[in-house]
Amino acid sequence: MKAPVIGIDLGTTFSCVAYLSGEQARVIPNLEGAMTTPSVVGFTAAGETLVGTMALRQAATNPERTLHAVKRLIGRKFEDKVVQAARKRLPYKLAAAANGDVVIDAAGRLITPQEVSALILGYLKACAEAYLGGEVADAVITVPAHFSEPQRQATKDAAVIAGLNVLRVINEPTAASLAFGLNRGANGTSAVFDMGGGTFDITLLEKSGGVFQVLATNGDSYLGGEDFDQRIVDWVLEALRKEQGVDLDGDTYARQRIREAAEKAKCELSFTAETEINLPFIASTASGSKHFRKELRRAVLEDLTRDLVDRAFPLVERTFAESKLRPSEIDSVLLVGGQTRMPLIRRRAAEFFGRKPSEGVNPEESVALGAAVQSGILESRFKDVVLLLDVTSQSLGIEIENDGFEKVIDKNTTIPTKRTKTFTTVENNQRLVRVHVVQGDGPRASDNVSLGMFDLLGLIAAPAGNAQIEVTFEIDANGLVKVTARDVLTGLEQQTAVHPSSGLSKQQVDGLAKQARAKSSRKKAHE
Ligand code: AMP
Repeated sequence: MKAPVIGIDLGTTFSCVAYLSGEQARVIPNLEGAMTTPSVVGFTAAGETLVGTMALRQAATNPERTLHAVKRLIGRKFEDKVVQAARKRLPYKLAAAANGDVVIDAAGRLITPQEVSALILGYLKACAEAYLGGEVADAVITVPAHFSEPQRQATKDAAVIAGLNVLRVINEPTAASLAFGLNRGANGTSAVFDMGGGTFDITLLEKSGGVFQVLATNGDSYLGGEDFDQRIVDWVLEALRKEQGVDLDGDTYARQRIREAAEKAKCELSFTAETEINLPFIASTASGSKHFRKELRRAVLEDLTRDLVDRAFPLVERTFAESKLRPSEIDSVLLVGGQTRMPLIRRRAAEFFGRKPSEGVNPEESVALGAAVQSGILESRFKDVVLLLDVTSQSLGIEIENDGFEKVIDKNTTIPTKRTKTFTTVENNQRLVRVHVVQGDGPRASDNVSLGMFDLLGLIAAPAGNAQIEVTFEIDANGLVKVTARDVLTGLEQQTAVHPSSGLSKQQVDGLAKQARAKSSRKKAHE
């Protein structure tokens, strides 16, 4: 029998893996029996690598070597302002790789976000193999809808390092909608409001005649549950300063304990009106040990975080404007991602859409379930769902003079897609044309993500404007970009040299995958 394909939701804080049993998508429990796994990796002093719950459990005593929220770093540059902001708050250190990508410095051990993610994916693969009783290789993996090409590519590379064969990369909100839509059968439009641990996405979709079509999508890669936790952490630190005169800002161990307590309190406040944050022995001063104990009310949490919730809605409005739909035309509203359990978010979403969100959607599991559904679509296993048409969440284009940005493929274009542009020379006897490929929707090239430089080489010496080089920009169904060129005069495929701005090379990925395989077989031999 063919090994099942697994669907993986690699989340900022939690990850989940699912598979299709007949026509039913089911979550696969992890080795401890839980339906989701903390996206945490820990390296112990004894040289052990821990993943998931085991890693989370030792986070407070080993903060510099316990890596969480790595999804916020993957596919980004060290100088990226998001990374610089994260740097101030993360208990582990960050550094710049030779190509400017961010790398993690786990107490002296340098490791890329791709490798950390690969450890999490490898663990989920092992959970699936233990549960399904056989080897698993093929996977559909999800990413936030607004993830750029380098973030998607880096996620895919992480999966390859983990020994997975990625059949498709799909967007998280689309996956959630697939999981929901498959069960309901009915045609209609849906809005997926997805706030997880690190990111926010809003996607509008339509299901009609067996086709899921994404109409428009927007997102913020730095708006999620961790930001809510941080507000509580700041509140605790401020109270400690004011009420007890202790400043724990620079104390990594204490901050880690506060962060854990903050997240716990936040989650509890989704179900109760008040909770207590209790942190005995949080600091030791000349005058003795200090303890923190204070009540936090839901109303206070809402005041502390209202501006974060407010940040989501202009994006929702923009998505409606782009799709030309009105909120009243939406048939179902799906809330996805653990942070949407917060009552303030549920209330605001209900007000905005003028209807209650759909019940029966599990915010933590629906994305992985949808990824499993997508594997079934790829294998033509369903009678009533035959196709998923997603869109590109950001425009793709090239840099022109004075830091200008010329779009070649607009955002919200259905993928896969392909556009061709013709380039020429601006100087006599020009032998090379350099194309800088950029992704994003900022007005200037430098506002957007650089995907790479692309040199068209070996042009025949000719007067300016004589050469005609057709450059084709393709975005595949995974949202990955490919650029090719053709010399119109000779009809020859152009010689090109691509210098990607970021990421690991194919050789590096293959080398790391080989290392991971060797390590895992050594481990198996030991057991
Ligand atoms: P996800 O990435 O979808 O697993 O979402 C994880 C985020 O959801 C984390 O920031 C969690 O703290 C948050 N979360 C989980 N449960 C709750 C809850 N009951 N109330 C508020 N936030 C929650």
